[in-house]
Amino acid sequence: MLDHADFEPRSWIPMSGWPVDRNSLLPHYEAAADLLGIDDLQAEWPASASLPMTGPLFSERCFLSPIPDLGATLRARLQRAKNVQVFLHATALRLDTDSSGGWVRSIEVASTPNRRFRIQARSFVLACGGIENARLLLVSNRQTPNGIGNQHDLVGRYFMEHPRVKWGSLQVCHPDTALALHVPSIVARRPYLSEQEHCGVTGAFGLALRPEIRESERLLGSRTWIKPGPCANDLGGSEALHYLAFWLRKGRLHRDLIKSGRTILRHPAASVASAIERLGHSRGRVRHFHFDTILEQEPDPESRVTLDTRLDEFNLPRVKLEWRVGPLVRRTLERVQTIITDEMRLLGHRSDVRSSTQVPPGGDDIPYRWVRHHMGTTRMSADPRTGVVDATCQVHGLGNLFVAGSSVFPTGGNDMPTLTIVALAIKLGRHLRQWLE
Ligand SMILES: Cc1cc2nc3c(=O)[nH]c(=O)nc-3n(C[C@H](O)[C@H](O)[C@H](O)COP(=O)(O)OP(=O)(O)OC[C@H]3O[C@@H](n4cnc5c(N)ncnc54)[C@H](O)[C@@H]3O)c2cc1C
Repeated sequence: MLDHADFEPRSWIPMSGWPVDRNSLLPHYEAAADLLGIDDLQAEWPASASLPMTGPLFSERCFLSPIPDLGATLRARLQRAKNVQVFLHATALRLDTDSSGGWVRSIEVASTPNRRFRIQARSFVLACGGIENARLLLVSNRQTPNGIGNQHDLVGRYFMEHPRVKWGSLQVCHPDTALALHVPSIVARRPYLSEQEHCGVTGAFGLALRPEIRESERLLGSRTWIKPGPCANDLGGSEALHYLAFWLRKGRLHRDLIKSGRTILRHPAASVASAIERLGHSRGRVRHFHFDTILEQEPDPESRVTLDTRLDEFNLPRVKLEWRVGPLVRRTLERVQTIITDEMRLLGHRSDVRSSTQVPPGGDDIPYRWVRHHMGTTRMSADPRTGVVDATCQVHGLGNLFVAGSSVFPTGGNDMPTLTIVALAIKLGRHLRQWLE
């Protein structure tokens, strides 16, 4: 869940501030939590469940849904519903408006390049993900050459991810249950935490900077996980093993599976060492960790999705992505590294916290990874000059077009996006029910 400060304008982050606040979203967050099987959204967790941080850091909870596959969960309800018709294997190609460009009349859909049809409706909601939502608006240019909702050249701009960096190395002298709550792989399997030790908490904890520190030092949001294995010698083997196990458990032939297999083959010794380390973890013999930090980004209009000159199988432009990460991300990362390193030293029984060579010093570019959170390309703002959709997620200037998904996030906070995506979708659904009556 995003925190109060994430919704507020922050003077040091241009274009920050949502046109909704967290209090008004809370009922929708609660409904989203119900849907996702999270039953203690607002519960206070006992202090013993978090690392005893007193300084600029605190342990922030991240909610884990026991039923993340909403397609499977809702399929039966959708089949039973009398007012819902679901078309599978149907690709939305583009929207058509009336001649004024202010009202969507229909959407063109195709099941194969030669099998196309058109759907008319009173209202339309785009929910095609953080990149495709923008592409669909841009490609819908038959009546308005710049695309739908793009009167201020904002569609596709301000693309944000959660840049991710693995760094450092932490060695502990004995297994520690408070620390274990910050290790997602341990929390997910909870192999050695008793009910009492776990204190009934469902979720993992990440280390975050307190809002007052972010404000006084003019920093972005961040969240740091503590992950098994010393990453300096790991060469990606640990992560490759993680993905290999993930996709094998799912029984799907994903391209990560092949990539992971290749990484393991390239670094067999480091991968085996990592596997042994992981086995040790699951039995509670926790010794070596590294840190894995995800960061918020400052919105940047040049970080953007545009249309490519290459065409897809439906003869429409493919998408082109220019992802930019600004200097404030680096400054935030450097502060996070210093603060965490200092705090871990203060916690006595942990030792040997070192900065990693994975983050180059000085001006060198940091090899940020992404975490598949695509945000910002149809950003929300009360003012059409600074946003594509308004506070109800209606596209500015369009009478019957709405957007769902993290493309509407004006800023990304430090949290996983899906709980907020679902909360906003529920809010939109409630709004549409009234709107259509
Ligand atoms: C491996 C992985 C792990 C993740 N882990 C987490 C996590 O732990 N926590 C978290 O909060 N988030 C996580 N995410 C991110 C999360 O999946 C997304 O934020 C979320 O799914 C976005 O929801 P959405 O409905 O907006 O878009 P999507 O889930 O991307 O759904 C969009 C749908 O639209 C369809 N679509 C796209 N284009 C068209 C078109 N033209 N016509 C018709 N249909 C179309 C797509 O096929 C898709 O079904 C993860 C993502 C990945 C890939």
